[in-house]
Amino acid sequence: MNRSEILSDLKNNPDISVLIVGGGINGIGTFRDLAVNGVDVLLVEKGDFCSGASSASSHMAHGGIRYLENGEFRLVREAVRERNRMLENAPHVVKPLPTTIPIFQRFSGLLNAPLKFLKLLDKPAERGSLIIKLGLILYDIYTGRQRTVPRHRFFSRKESLAKWKHLNPEIVNTAVYYDGAILQPERLAVDLILDAESVNPNARALNYVSMVGGSEDTILLRDELTDETYDLRPKLLINAAGPWIDFTNRRLGLSTRFIGGTKGSHIVVEHAELRKAIGDHEFFFENEDGRIVLIFPLYDRVLIGTSDIPVEHPDEAQCTDEEIEYFLRLTRRIFPSLQLTRENIVFQFSGVRPLPRSNARTASQISRDHSIEVLSGDWTNLRFPVYSLVGGKWTSFRAFSEQVTDKALAYLNLSRQKDTRSMQIGGGRGYPRDPGELKRQIESLSAWTGVARERLKVLFERYGTRAETIATYMNGGTDFILRSLPDYTLREIVFLAQHEKICHLDDFLLRRSMLAMLGRVTEEMVEELAKALGNALGWDEERKTAEVARTLLILADRHGLALPSNHRDNVSESKDRL
Ligand SMILES: Cc1cc2nc3c(=O)[nH]c(=O)nc-3n(C[C@H](O)[C@H](O)[C@H](O)COP(=O)(O)OP(=O)(O)OC[C@H]3O[C@@H](n4cnc5c(N)ncnc54)[C@H](O)[C@@H]3O)c2cc1C
Repeated sequence: MNRSEILSDLKNNPDISVLIVGGGINGIGTFRDLAVNGVDVLLVEKGDFCSGASSASSHMAHGGIRYLENGEFRLVREAVRERNRMLENAPHVVKPLPTTIPIFQRFSGLLNAPLKFLKLLDKPAERGSLIIKLGLILYDIYTGRQRTVPRHRFFSRKESLAKWKHLNPEIVNTAVYYDGAILQPERLAVDLILDAESVNPNARALNYVSMVGGSEDTILLRDELTDETYDLRPKLLINAAGPWIDFTNRRLGLSTRFIGGTKGSHIVVEHAELRKAIGDHEFFFENEDGRIVLIFPLYDRVLIGTSDIPVEHPDEAQCTDEEIEYFLRLTRRIFPSLQLTRENIVFQFSGVRPLPRSNARTASQISRDHSIEVLSGDWTNLRFPVYSLVGGKWTSFRAFSEQVTDKALAYLNLSRQKDTRSMQIGGGRGYPRDPGELKRQIESLSAWTGVARERLKVLFERYGTRAETIATYMNGGTDFILRSLPDYTLREIVFLAQHEKICHLDDFLLRRSMLAMLGRVTEEMVEELAKALGNALGWDEERKTAEVARTLLILADRHGLALPSNHRDNVSESKDRL
């Protein structure tokens, strides 16, 4: 069913087993798990899928070695296991990530780490080689016998400086261990939604639909594209609104204070020397203020982050000048000979971690674990329970979703039919395990679709094995390369418009593609895409103009990209629609 068919079906059939509010990774993961278990489930998201915290991550599939010193052993063990599963189940977008830790002290932190573990110290002295070694040994143990990724290694100062030409000579060691890089988190989320809908016709996901109220047995939804409202009668409501969980509960008359969010920002820079200097390694290290920060290879760009600042309202999160200065400084500390300036920034973003409200003295001490808070019974005026999904990480979404699904199935008196542990995701299904196999798949696909090998290589990189369906579609009609975007063709865009729930132009630029994040957007591109998407989605000229203005405003307001002057007049009109 397409969007309008789903909505009109809701008008006629408002009874549903599970309503999930919030289409970030935790809502989407739960949606997929319920769907494969045959449950009728609706997911609603007030913006686009994966546009909240889930679009603001550091792109790491990681166990979180840092959490060991907070004593979060369960979380680290679970996250390492889930990292391995992501590498196995979504190999098209999650890749092994060699991670280098530059170390500036040998013995520091030895006395402080146990104190921190006992919560007697807020900020340890710098973590030295020995403490880091202990952490990495434990991390290797959690990786288990499967050895999805290699064990860690330590390198002397001499070896390190020989390998990393631009590295600060003040280091005493480097350590290398492996995590995972989630290269396109937003695409992975869409893959999960499409998988869920394809196995269960009673699993439906709608973006740009908000939950705006509810009482007794009824929930009120609003279509954000038309303002039309819908009543729904769920047996169970799952509040997966991330940093907005308490705001969402309030709309149901439930006064909760589950979330104490912290803001984190990142910048993406275009700097050929820095990109070359880090190779395929992430640099993950402790900054002067004790915060763990990262310099991360993101295609041909470099991602730098992040901060951890308590905030009251998630809508206020913006990457500030102060944060940008901090990111530039931390990069200069590790690579002092490379000149990185604001001129190199091509994109910036910010999001709020939906952490549990806590009395911890520093943001880094707040637990990164997840929990399900259940509200039911007489003190609510609702006839169904509400499960709020507090916390969670991108990496451990599957495990968290499994726990939520088990609880929901028990409540609905249903038993689990399938588990998602080894379930491959979207274009990760049948993804080639080595470059030779990839080459063979591309050659045979090129032979029967007529699409050039170079194009297919790009499609595999973007969509994994879904490249096959897309290439077949591209071959089914007249196609041409876009003028402003030579690595896309018109029919590829039309395919995405029709199959990937795109409602606005920015959905494509920010979340179905990496174009905005990698700083590739030009005004000409925005105009051409508005036309291509608009023709596929039936937009009139006025709508196309409004979409261009809306996109440019979002890019300027939230991502620091300069707004061309000839669009300023249209912007104020679209501001209300954001
Ligand atoms: C700066 C930063 C860096 C991070 N780095 C990593 C990392 O490297 N690795 C990792 O594993 N994790 C990382 N995380 C953590 C991870 O990204 C989050 O924990 C996770 O994305 C939370 O997902 P969620 O689905 O709970 O919340 P969200 O993604 O915020 O989803 C909630 C959704 O609910 C919607 N919503 C709210 N109210 C309503 C309503 N009334 N009706 C309908 N929809 C509504 C919102 O629009 C939103 O899209 C990071 C987080 C941040 C912020």
